[in-house]
Amino acid sequence: MTLPTDTAETNATLATSGTASQAPAPTNFIRQIIDEDLRTGKNGTRVATRFPPEPNGYLHIGHAKSICLNFGIARDYKGTCNLRMDDTNPTKEDVEYVESIMKDVEWLGFKWAGMYYASDYFEKLYDYAVQLIKLGKAYVCSLTAEQIREYRGTLTQPGRESPYRNRSVEENLELFARMRKGEFPDGTHVLRAKIDMASPNINLRDPALYRIRHAHHHRTGDRWCIYPMYDYAHCISDMLEGITHSICTLEFEDHRPLYDWCLETLKTPCHPQQIEFSRLNLTYTVMSKRKLLELVQKKIVQGWDDPRMPTILGFRRRGYTPESIRDFCDRIGVTKKENVIDVAQLEACIREDLDRRAPRALAVLRPLKVVIENYPEGQVEEFDGPNHTQKPELGTRKVPFSRELYIEREDFMEEPTKGFFRLAPGKEVRLRFAYFVKCTGVVKDPATGEVTELRCTYDPETRGTNPPDGRKVKGTIHWVSAQHSVPAEVRLYDRLFVKENPEDDTIANLNPKSFEIIKDARVERNLASAKPEERYQFERQGYFVADMKDCAPGRLVFNRTVTLRDSWAKEAGK
Ligand code: ATP
Ligand code: MG
Repeated sequence: MTLPTDTAETNATLATSGTASQAPAPTNFIRQIIDEDLRTGKNGTRVATRFPPEPNGYLHIGHAKSICLNFGIARDYKGTCNLRMDDTNPTKEDVEYVESIMKDVEWLGFKWAGMYYASDYFEKLYDYAVQLIKLGKAYVCSLTAEQIREYRGTLTQPGRESPYRNRSVEENLELFARMRKGEFPDGTHVLRAKIDMASPNINLRDPALYRIRHAHHHRTGDRWCIYPMYDYAHCISDMLEGITHSICTLEFEDHRPLYDWCLETLKTPCHPQQIEFSRLNLTYTVMSKRKLLELVQKKIVQGWDDPRMPTILGFRRRGYTPESIRDFCDRIGVTKKENVIDVAQLEACIREDLDRRAPRALAVLRPLKVVIENYPEGQVEEFDGPNHTQKPELGTRKVPFSRELYIEREDFMEEPTKGFFRLAPGKEVRLRFAYFVKCTGVVKDPATGEVTELRCTYDPETRGTNPPDGRKVKGTIHWVSAQHSVPAEVRLYDRLFVKENPEDDTIANLNPKSFEIIKDARVERNLASAKPEERYQFERQGYFVADMKDCAPGRLVFNRTVTLRDSWAKEAGK
């Protein structure tokens, strides 16, 4: 038994409105604003949102919050949500990122109404800039970057006007046209909005609208050498797409007056409303793309899809389901208050989802051979292993048992400590689904003294039951048949950082034990045909997924998604 593949799942859950169907997300202050707008008929009956990533990295779990919010609103209000690449900064952007973003949004279960690129609007953005110049609301400034900074003033001091502020409309038009033609080197001129150098909001002190950058753009090639600034491009792009609610994170709150100024000054036919919410921050996690890129470039992780990365692709490869991520985003809610969410909450979501859905399997991560000396050679029995312990309707599978088995090395102690109820010389345990076995002897490597094999006997009267003499055992351990099990590589992942807030020094706060590779694990034969991205609970070990990149027929590779219980909570409680 296997879980449906994600593609099947995703397609099946795509509603006609184009987004993952599920119960409506809980209400929040943004939904209340939309309810009110619908009541007053502000945008008619339209609700149009967008998700506007810059294609300069892979999407992370913070983006998932914004995706669930924007696409969730479109879904629940029968509106639309566009995917827009905010690609106005040519030097950092790449098609690899564009493609990954599209894949990640789809994988999360959402479908965009329209796919757009801010770079598609370059010509229109240019025309609007010309209009601003003609209105006397924008000018070409020839101060150096350094001087502009100096003229801008500070939080406590007003700025000073640029000596170029009063250039004539004609001169500005001519200079701007020449900027476009490529007549000037980078940094020699910028186009600035003419607003108010004394404004208490620094964003309104004649902000730059265009800068010269002789750089190749991943879509427009070398057609442009001037590129619009984010604040200018964003409001116009929203307007061109007829967005009603432009939802962004709190750091743009102070930029809202500029957003509104551009649209008001140009008297555009529609004026989207910018609404800010607080970003997702997670404990034990760094989130900014810049820092994630650093981890990739310094090869601290194996790539953007490393299962320890907080990228959507990393979580996917780690074994997270899109449902668990959407559930997490619903649970954390949307507010205007900055906060940090415990990463354990995210782990709880995937644990819950997989507990519900993942078929059970027996896997021995660190095998120790057991020979059951009184079990007939060549005999094989098959036990019925329930696919799900709480869901008998999910059926059973056959688990073969034979004279030679593997058990988990840590389920044996030669000199058991107090409270150790598993296998030890002279001690008896139950083998899951099977018999009681008693350890009668050990074989050691003469050179190292290490126990390499256990000798046991089994009690035929305990087949799936307790013996008639009423004898009890305290431990039940898992096992696989030596001859029937298959080898697998198992990758144990853990949190990438040891500190709750790793931001201050990401490198120093790395968890040295975030990755362990076990090359010679043994898994029950039913897993021999595991397909990439199939998820299982390895009993007593945790949830695992067949690696989407490396697992192939004849080469099993499983990643640990999450342990069965939160071991970090225990650590913290010590
Ligand atoms: P980063 O700082 O990680 O590079 P960003 O804000 O520069 O992120 P963008 O590609 O510009 O990344 O973001 C696209 C959208 O996702 C924006 O609307 C942004 O506000 C939102 N977003 C980014 N990070 C988060 C986060 N941690 N929580 C919620 N929304 C986020
Ligand atoms: Mg950004």
